[in-house]
Amino acid sequence: MRVTQALALARSQGLTRLDAQLLLCHHLQRPRSWLLAHDHELLPPAIEVALRDDFVQRAAGVPLAYLTGEREFHGLRLAVTPAVLDPRPDTETLVDWALQWLSGRTRPTVLDLGTGSGAIAIAVAHARPDAIVTATDLDAAALAVARANAHTHGVVLECLLGSWWTPLGGRRFDLVLSNPPYIAADDTHLAALGHEPQHALTPGGDGLDALRTLAAGAALHLQPTGAVILEHGFDQAAAVRTLLHGAGLVAAQTRTDLGGQDRCTGACRAG
Ligand code: GLN
Repeated sequence: MRVTQALALARSQGLTRLDAQLLLCHHLQRPRSWLLAHDHELLPPAIEVALRDDFVQRAAGVPLAYLTGEREFHGLRLAVTPAVLDPRPDTETLVDWALQWLSGRTRPTVLDLGTGSGAIAIAVAHARPDAIVTATDLDAAALAVARANAHTHGVVLECLLGSWWTPLGGRRFDLVLSNPPYIAADDTHLAALGHEPQHALTPGGDGLDALRTLAAGAALHLQPTGAVILEHGFDQAAAVRTLLHGAGLVAAQTRTDLGGQDRCTGACRAG
């Protein structure tokens, strides 16, 4: 099979041209510019077999990142496995806000709860080498991915195993961040995300349980001048502001993602 034939096969299975090209690039270990110039190149048989399998999996909804084993997030190439959520560009909104909040503060302590691939924690640690960053996850397999990504990018990450606040005892941080599961159990959009770890996508019920746990523990784990920023669903901003104010935090504000949807809400421990 030649490059053009592989691309045509992928298209016939419903893949986008970009996904097909990225899978070819991944298996051939070549950049996209090479593909464009080598339309008629014959694919080695082992690569053809692997590609055919990947096309079927991608057509069945497996995230591209699980097939290529990587995803670019905030300018960093991260390893991704099915143990972790495929990092979304929308989460870069939270990272940018965190970095703005941290500017002007030296050696800040930062906590990322439910880190998954480590995307948030590593993006912050990479942009702010002076920050002291801790990441938690309740899944040891996810924490291993975060650790490996931290190592790849040369950042020091303290990784703790456990659910939300549990592994932290009474420790306090300057900035607490999280992209928790927030999709409601009956949200039809969950079905399309069936290949990702469900505990990373939905806490069950109305989708707010993890955000409730995070809001409830924030004051206990923030320094007096600290702040928390949480990612949430497009229709959960008001609920999250109410949860944060109800937990004694002040000045809750919401920011939108690249698509203009409410995506994260932050609040401070003191005004
Ligand atoms: N933003 C993701 C989605 O809707 C969900 C991520 C999450 O639940 N934390 O696909």
